[in-house]
Amino acid sequence: MRYAARWAAAASTGLVITGLAACGGTHPAATSAWRAPAAVEVAAPTPAAAARGGRAAAGRPLRLPYVRPDVPLGTLTYAPGHARYPVGAVGLTFDDGPDPTWTPQILAILARYHAHATFFDIGENVTRDPALTRAEYAAGDGVGNHTETHPDLTTLDAALEGSQIDEASAAIRSATGHAPLCLRPPYDAIDPTVEEVAAQHHETLMLYDVDVRDWTLPGVRAIVARALAGARPGAVIDMHDAGGNRSETVAALPLILRGLQARHLVPVAFCRA
Ligand SMILES: [Zn+2]
Repeated sequence: MRYAARWAAAASTGLVITGLAACGGTHPAATSAWRAPAAVEVAAPTPAAAARGGRAAAGRPLRLPYVRPDVPLGTLTYAPGHARYPVGAVGLTFDDGPDPTWTPQILAILARYHAHATFFDIGENVTRDPALTRAEYAAGDGVGNHTETHPDLTTLDAALEGSQIDEASAAIRSATGHAPLCLRPPYDAIDPTVEEVAAQHHETLMLYDVDVRDWTLPGVRAIVARALAGARPGAVIDMHDAGGNRSETVAALPLILRGLQARHLVPVAFCRA
């Protein structure tokens, strides 16, 4: 079996989960493009992970707001920026930065473990600290668009959505020399208009599979347990490097990386122009 096909098959045990609140937001309203299942089975964590507080208790389905029925299973199977990934690739992502306190610490930990990640930066933060976004790119990590000021795009008209994407893209391009390939909408709030505007801007909507909810400050053990409970080939794990005190995220990251190493899962950068 070819490399990519073998890896895609491995990823088929997962679910692409959208509509979960990220960054402390609320769920977007359902539209006709989405179906709202009564309950969705999520890959159950190991009993040990569940005992440590993994978000899906073994055997008990989670209720999730929306599952998009027409996307491939495993977000990385269609992540742009790389034609192929190693078998066992996973995507660690950090939203809302860059931040002068937390982003350098996360970059240092990633470097120590020879791991890569993708940062979804907010344009106005990039403009304030372009050297941090430049450092993310220079380290070999991906840099994606998380809009200019972090609004819920579904509340804006198409013109304002476009300017949110354009301004952040220009800031990232100015900092790194490359326009971002991907857009992660704040709060994971998307609707058909957001999808259309993103496509017009040639940015792929990049959501995630695993929400560790680190912005709720659940404790280091919970963040690690949630990340590792959802880690599987092709999974994209969402964390934050800004927007509040991220000391728990920083403390959890080495433990997450060691857990991934133990499972032979490889953290890779994507959306890298
Ligand atoms: Zn965010």
